[in-house]
Amino acid sequence: MINIYDYSLSDLETTLLENNFKKYNASQIYDWLYKKRVTNFNDMTNLKKELIKYLNDYFIIEPLKIVKVEKDTNVHKFLFGLSDNTNIEAVLMNHDYGDSLCISTQVGCNMNCQFCESGRNKKIRNLETYEMVSQVMQVEEWLKIRLTHVVLMGIGEPFDNYDNVINFVNIINESKGIALGSRHITVSTCGVVPKIEEFTYFDKQVNLAISLHAPNDEIRNKLMPINKVYNLDKLMNAIKKYIKVTNRRVTFEYIMLKEINDSYENAIKLSKLIKGINCYVNLIPYNETSYSDLVKSDKKAILEFYDCLKKNKINVTIRKEFGSKVSAACGQLRSNYEEEQ
Ligand code: SAH
Repeated sequence: MINIYDYSLSDLETTLLENNFKKYNASQIYDWLYKKRVTNFNDMTNLKKELIKYLNDYFIIEPLKIVKVEKDTNVHKFLFGLSDNTNIEAVLMNHDYGDSLCISTQVGCNMNCQFCESGRNKKIRNLETYEMVSQVMQVEEWLKIRLTHVVLMGIGEPFDNYDNVINFVNIINESKGIALGSRHITVSTCGVVPKIEEFTYFDKQVNLAISLHAPNDEIRNKLMPINKVYNLDKLMNAIKKYIKVTNRRVTFEYIMLKEINDSYENAIKLSKLIKGINCYVNLIPYNETSYSDLVKSDKKAILEFYDCLKKNKINVTIRKEFGSKVSAACGQLRSNYEEEQ
């Protein structure tokens, strides 16, 4: 049985035509699934009996189970249970500009970034498209809201699950379905260069964020093993090409780690590295986890770093901190939960 949330509108149209149904039936089904949010094919009352039978014979509608919800000011953290008894999480943040959901793309992660909780749990598998779609829909149903933004910054490396991620983006962007604007979707990568190159030619105006976290190879090699495969030179070349082709601005994420990457000198190096690139930098106060010796930068260091970038005419913001009461760092809720069990 195939989960119907795996199907883009055009895939569904093709499949229906092949089975002697009408192309417009796909739009009707999309309307039931994503606008009316029906979870039983029998409730799709404007479809012919034969079509409902066909759907019941070959497809299932199976939303993910919400196992746990933690709540703090302007943040909800959701833990989902998957059918193979693994867990993933998604985080909803209420911003002044809207409600943004950070979703997971894999069960675990193989990238092994030193500061990241998700990497403590090796990758078990990629998420299927329907499992990403269902994170969005279940959070909307639970909170009775419609999301304005989706970011792929939860557990996993989106560009290590490229095809499912692209299919997911196409599905949530579909105007006959969830209709989330492409400019309101952000994909974040640790720097999988071949996939950045492929993404350069993806035909939707989705935002690209790069987890940079270091101004040179020496520091980046220590923090992020991916840098030993695709160093900063290769990464920056791919990014420049992406910007040239798409004419879009990229975001650089930079976690501020005390005495690792937060000196004034590092700020100068970073300014030089990204000078002239159409970008903005998001400085992220490190969310300390109990399994790492890394320490969050002092406020003063963060502000000085910020000032240095500003002085060098680089667009920069300091990320607002969310959810210190809930297990807020990427992957924390899942690993705490699994240790309790
Ligand atoms: N693999 C992708 C997306 C998941 S990580 C990527 O690397 O971009 C999403 C973001 O959260 C990254 O910028 C990551 O570096 C950051 N992050 C991970 N652990 C963190 C922590 N403990 N505190 C603050 N940010 C963290």
